[in-house]
Amino acid sequence: MADLSYLEWPFFEPRHRELAVALDAWAGAHAGAAHGPDVDAECRALVRALGRDGWLRHAVAGTAHGGMGEVIDTRAVCLIRETLARHSGLADFAFAMQGLGSGAISLHGTPAQRDRYLAPVAAGEAIAAFALSEPEAGSDVAAMACAARAEGDDYILDGEKTWISNGGIADFYVVFARTGEAPGARGITAFIVDADTPGLEIAERIEVIAPHPLARLRFDACRVPASRRLGAAGEGFKVAMRTLDVFRTSVAAAALGFARRALDEALARATTRRMFGGVLADFQLTQSKLARMATAIDSAALLTYRAAWQRDRGNRVTREAAMAKMTATENAQRVIDDAVQLFGGLGVVSGQPVERLYRDIRALRIYEGATEVQQLIIARELLRPAEDARA
Ligand SMILES: Cc1cc2nc3c(=O)[nH]c(=O)nc-3n(C[C@H](O)[C@H](O)[C@H](O)COP(=O)(O)OP(=O)(O)OC[C@H]3O[C@@H](n4cnc5c(N)ncnc54)[C@H](O)[C@@H]3O)c2cc1C
Repeated sequence: MADLSYLEWPFFEPRHRELAVALDAWAGAHAGAAHGPDVDAECRALVRALGRDGWLRHAVAGTAHGGMGEVIDTRAVCLIRETLARHSGLADFAFAMQGLGSGAISLHGTPAQRDRYLAPVAAGEAIAAFALSEPEAGSDVAAMACAARAEGDDYILDGEKTWISNGGIADFYVVFARTGEAPGARGITAFIVDADTPGLEIAERIEVIAPHPLARLRFDACRVPASRRLGAAGEGFKVAMRTLDVFRTSVAAAALGFARRALDEALARATTRRMFGGVLADFQLTQSKLARMATAIDSAALLTYRAAWQRDRGNRVTREAAMAKMTATENAQRVIDDAVQLFGGLGVVSGQPVERLYRDIRALRIYEGATEVQQLIIARELLRPAEDARA
């Protein structure tokens, strides 16, 4: 049983503690860490199981559409991601993408769009994806080239999206395309595109170090009814940023889950690995490592749950979420690297939990805003008052 004493922190309410304890037991039984060769099938099965047993209700908003509440509870989402990540990177991925992929519909969908898409997502019966990035527009989202032009009651999409998680297994994609109302970020619109829409194809499946469904999509005269436009024309950038705002703190929580698992593994190894007439944990150099690992985890956890708690209180958390994401992902990378070191040769053997964690953590420092982007966000927030005063 994991140490869940942090659930006593004042950020949480009793329902959060109950959720984390119940999910820990569920994940122990249902989210085995070993990833089989068929990652698509495993992912589909995880989505179905998470939906069947009610966990995905936390990923969507609106009780009328299967959601747990009228708004997404950030602390619940974070606790779920942390817990799942501690057990299985793929289970965390399956949960997270249902939320990120449908988040724009929860926030900006019309009643008809919410009716059609959210309940199946919450039940684990439809798989969602979020298609923002392009080959030439990653960190610089506003450089996107994928275009949508209005034609009668439809829009016609042409272009590419890449690094799309769930690409190839999703039932629908929330796609951002340039509609040209204004230059840059103000000329983008969001659409819901069903996976079987003619003109949408999976151009390439992408293999990554921590396997999960990932693809490059191509849109070739792909006709989407105007009723699938998500939010107002030209407001797509805002739709994307608001969606990412809900889920950015949860990336920190996933990193936290990976780091906690690494520390658990390291403690178990250090206290049992015999050497020089004692065990590895007897040596002060080991104790120094363990102390740094535990402190890095607690500082990341404090920033993560501060941001989640602030968001649930209705506050703007741009700075707090960026601090949490940057710190938790960077700290987790170091904690996991220390765990691999403590395992010695065993730490780099394929399939060992710490070896898997070493691969699982890497992309979190890049997606949903790389660490450098988070630094720029934090600095911008710090400098804002001085700039306002100068203006
Ligand atoms: C596993 C994985 C899953 C993903 N899933 C999705 C998804 O589901 N949907 C989706 O839309 N996208 C997804 N992405 C894409 C992800 O959001 C982008 O990879 C990310 O935004 C970075 O874009 P890029 O890869 O083009 O890197 P680039 O934009 O080329 O950036 C490269 C590096 O430059 C540095 N950098 C960036 N900006 C600055 C700056 N201003 N100053 C200094 N340095 C800077 C950072 O270190 C960054 O990592 C995923 C990516 C990965 C790896």
